[in-house]
Amino acid sequence: MPIDGLVMVARELIGEEAVRLIQILSEQDETTDDELIAKTGLKLNNLRKLLYQLFEQSLVSYRRVRDKDAGWFKYYWRINKTGLIILLNAKKKKILFKLKERLSYETENQFFSCASCGTRFTFEDAIETNFHCPTCAGRLDSVNNEDTVFILKLKIAELEKNLAE
Ligand SMILES: [Zn+2]
Repeated sequence: MPIDGLVMVARELIGEEAVRLIQILSEQDETTDDELIAKTGLKLNNLRKLLYQLFEQSLVSYRRVRDKDAGWFKYYWRINKTGLIILLNAKKKKILFKLKERLSYETENQFFSCASCGTRFTFEDAIETNFHCPTCAGRLDSVNNEDTVFILKLKIAELEKNLAE
């Protein structure tokens, strides 16, 4: 179970309180509202709000059972592994798209950098300023970006492999 991924997504989408809930939910298969209240100290309203947010993001699911004595429903919460995987994959695809965009930018351009302040320019920008930095007037030298391209290709391959698994 990729609990780290889940924690990351929960923190990003909902916040620290959601992270605490996820951690508690991951300790056992199913957890009731009462147990969650006892373990977090949250008020029922706040707990429900958080659980609803997690549910909306497909990070948790529930089943409910009517309590015959009390007459109301009892909720059993669990982590939604499928939802999490879908969410993580969507995130990875977004990153992959950005990496590919960056790779095209790196391979389709020729770069120059300022010998004094290190700012990087494309060939088109460098030619406009006659190969002098517009900020500090330093000389613009041609940059070898093979390392950047190599790392980008590596990361893209890694992510693609990871998504295919
Ligand atoms: Zn400069």
